Amino acid sequence: MIRMILASQNKHKLEEIRDILEDLNIDLISMDEAGLGDLKIVEDGETFEENSMKKAVTVMERTNTIAIADDSGLSVDYLKGSPGVYSARFAGEDATDDDNNKKLLKMLDGVPTKERSGKFVSVISVAFPDGRKVSVRGECNGVIGLEEKGTNGFGYDPLFIVPEYEKTFAEIGSEMKNRISHRAKALEKFRKELKRILGEES
Ligand code: IMP
Repeated sequence: MIRMILASQNKHKLEEIRDILEDLNIDLISMDEAGLGDLKIVEDGETFEENSMKKAVTVMERTNTIAIADDSGLSVDYLKGSPGVYSARFAGEDATDDDNNKKLLKMLDGVPTKERSGKFVSVISVAFPDGRKVSVRGECNGVIGLEEKGTNGFGYDPLFIVPEYEKTFAEIGSEMKNRISHRAKALEKFRKELKRILGEES
């Protein structure tokens, strides 16, 4: 088993990433489990790539253990890519998912469905103690709903409609979400990169 730390305090992300990488020989532990429960990493980058790598490198340097991080968010075309890297704190520093969803709905008030396109983005980074670093990106296109629907998932899931299923991420459930989501796509690429890197080692 190769131990890796997930540089995130988000329990939903930990569960999703563990599920998706289940078949690999990785022991993915949380920051809490690594004794970094209090570590706050300021996400001050302008891109998902910068923030994701900053989180992975910070945790790797603190622990001398391989660290992976996901920086993700929602990019809405009508809002010129917003909330983007500010997705978690769209409605303010301590905003809840509900606050963020309400703000998004307000900003899109009166905007017709055909102009409510957007995408979720996930950038997964890994930082190794020997200095190697890799980032991969996954995206999932969708439409922002007129109201929240569904109770699964987290964040903007109740507003994010997947056109093929005419359902939100919060309605389709975790099994389906984990097959088609931005994070699933990024992790698929990540899995290949990891196999390549670890293959080089053996
Ligand atoms: P991060 O922890 O800085 O990457 O913030 C990600 C934010 O983007 C979360 O707090 C959510 O608001 C949003 N987000 C990212 N991925 C998802 C997802 O799969 N579903 C719903 N919201 C997401």
